[in-house]
Amino acid sequence: MAGAQHGGRRVRVWQVAALTLGVGLLVGVTFWWAGNHNNTDRSVDTASPVESVLASPSQIPQVSAPAVTAQAPVALPSSGFDTERYSLEDADSPWVVVNKHRPLEPTDYAPGDLVTASGVRFADGGTMRREAADALSDMESAASSDGLDFQVSSAYRGFARQSDIYHTHVNKLGKAKADRLSARPGYSEHQTGWSADLYDSSACRLKSCFGDSAAGQWVAAHGAEYGFIIRYPEGKSSVTGYEYEPWHVRYVGEGLAMQMRERNVATLEEFFGLPAAPTY
Ligand code: ZN
Repeated sequence: MAGAQHGGRRVRVWQVAALTLGVGLLVGVTFWWAGNHNNTDRSVDTASPVESVLASPSQIPQVSAPAVTAQAPVALPSSGFDTERYSLEDADSPWVVVNKHRPLEPTDYAPGDLVTASGVRFADGGTMRREAADALSDMESAASSDGLDFQVSSAYRGFARQSDIYHTHVNKLGKAKADRLSARPGYSEHQTGWSADLYDSSACRLKSCFGDSAAGQWVAAHGAEYGFIIRYPEGKSSVTGYEYEPWHVRYVGEGLAMQMRERNVATLEEFFGLPAAPTY
């Protein structure tokens, strides 16, 4: 009996030791993950006040609020919206976040399912990923029903094409100005196949006045119903790194686009708690 009790105590001691070790490992791994997962751009995260605000929670190690805080979305936990449904890193993901801190991987990535969007006129005969193209077709039909019309100036652009565009801008405007207007190759959302530049008149093609046009207003108001967001909204260049581009729509799927609209969160960076990316 005494031996059994002794054995029982030993088991309890081992159980406690194993549990302690397990908890220790979990905490250690959590902090390791937080340090690595919050990407490698931390050195530039403090470059602007906005970045500092967005990045600061991840830089304060707190036992009561571990890694989760670093990536905590604006989403309320009770909403039931799964913010981890798709990858933010995988170029094939409809939620991939590409900005000046987050190049495509690989940088010469090309989507595998580019198609034309039926019923939509592409000025450059262009393409998009199938899911985005189908959504764009639906959006064009709905806009037409409301008596509006838009065309696509350009949608998918490969690495080489983006390189041409970027270097044309650099030669014309200088590097600093070019970087505010045009993405470096490997950093363009157009290279994902999820984005399109819309226009309804040549006067406001690729100009902010598209946002004031009836078509521009319609897209801003109804785009989310078809899975599109205005990726570079007005007043958010300190977050996105780009000036207001009411014509540039990005497909993220109806679920996320509607969540962003309902919560009044304008950018992917803010929604997913990612650092702002005003500069490279
Ligand atoms: Zn664009």
